[in-house]
Amino acid sequence: MFNSLSDRLSATFKNLRGKGRLSEADVDATVREIRRALLDADVAVPVVREFTAKVRERALGAEVNAALNPAQQIVKIVNEELVEILGGQTRRIRLAKNPPTVIMLAGLQGAGKTTLAGKLSKWLKGQGHSPLLVAADLQRPNAVKQLQVNGERAGVPVFAPHPGVSSEFEAATGDPVAVAQAGLAEARSKLHDVVIVDTAGRLGVDAELMQQAANIRAAISPDEVLFVIDAMIGQDAVATAQAFDQGVNFTGIVLSKLDGDARGGAALSVATVTGKPVMFASTGEALDDFEVFHPDRMASRILDMGDVLTLIEQAQQAWDKDEAARMAKKFADQEDFTLDDFLAQMNQIRNMGSMKKMLMMMPGAAGMRQQLEQFDEREIDRVEAIVRSMTPHERVAPKIINGSRRARIARGSGVHVSEVNGLLERFGQAQKMMKKMAAGGGMPGVPGMTG
Ligand code: GDP
Repeated sequence: MFNSLSDRLSATFKNLRGKGRLSEADVDATVREIRRALLDADVAVPVVREFTAKVRERALGAEVNAALNPAQQIVKIVNEELVEILGGQTRRIRLAKNPPTVIMLAGLQGAGKTTLAGKLSKWLKGQGHSPLLVAADLQRPNAVKQLQVNGERAGVPVFAPHPGVSSEFEAATGDPVAVAQAGLAEARSKLHDVVIVDTAGRLGVDAELMQQAANIRAAISPDEVLFVIDAMIGQDAVATAQAFDQGVNFTGIVLSKLDGDARGGAALSVATVTGKPVMFASTGEALDDFEVFHPDRMASRILDMGDVLTLIEQAQQAWDKDEAARMAKKFADQEDFTLDDFLAQMNQIRNMGSMKKMLMMMPGAAGMRQQLEQFDEREIDRVEAIVRSMTPHERVAPKIINGSRRARIARGSGVHVSEVNGLLERFGQAQKMMKKMAAGGGMPGVPGMTG
């Protein structure tokens, strides 16, 4: 996500480090580098111009001259300006006073609308809502089926035109406006408090598509119209966003495919160009690859200052509370930390999703990007195989695992003895750390899980 932009900006700031005072030439050189980095990342030219002008003006102003560390001050300015072009404040979904809240999705074909519908519905369900998905994309063959699959995965019902189920359905078949209206009626009668309407897209913007979307909008008066845009489409993003803004007057933006190696900068431009906020980000094909978009946190990620808040939220969502309570009790009772506990903790981490994605949110991750790219997600599988090859007694009393036991465990789990040794060593460190934390009354953490 914005990797190369992030690397370029980090390199630019590194050049400033250690400078006591910044001359106008220093500032100009820095601003030039920032301009190039943004343009290379596909940020739209007018947005780049405005951005760099503001950074330059502020960098030459009093706030930098008076600062103890001018380089840091410039990073701060760039951060604040990035937050601005990303939309400023975090914008939450506006819930209707009289439910159901109606959310309509619009965007080009392949932008990721149907995928997003599943993600959004799962997320809303997790927040205690009872959403209904409505399949009003009758253009793309398979779109209805795909939404049904996503709905099933998310555990959210889908209203779809399906001949022969009811007369209401039959009336709706073929006409997306009628399907959307019937979906809304279904939500009212079944007391769903949120309705998400998936609509059709075309490969390019065309008048008929836009008219259809506008007709649906007029028929169902949505509380939110989310424009889904593929972050990888480059410079076309701005024109596409403007066309949809005129056509359906959307209320918020969803950036999809932010996981790709796209330069992603065009995505940065759409908020500025349309004046509409980015509300969500889609970061992969799985249902959980989805986040609320926080401009401040995204700016921090781009500037490699880390996004620890999102990291914590994702951990909280995945954390099994019973397991955490069990660990906490173990601590309180000063019981020994065993290899089974070690494995349980590691599985908790696995539940949080991709390790790589998580690690990328750590401050300074850009500097370790290469190592992170090489991180092997299967490491946890290997650890699991090793622990499973141990006897129950060995797991609670690892001290008894001598050379011949190590060889047996290695054979049983299909790894080299050195890997068993490495695991036991890491476990020993984790155990020590746990003891220390228990003594200090701290919460159990997740120490030493990788090699
Ligand atoms: P729609 O035509 O707008 O409904 O787009 P789809 O939801 O069908 O998505 C088009 C393709 O992009 C599918 O293959 C999705 O699996 C994929 N896709 C959607 N969102 C993401 C994302 O955030 N990351 C990645 N890597 N792929 C995505």
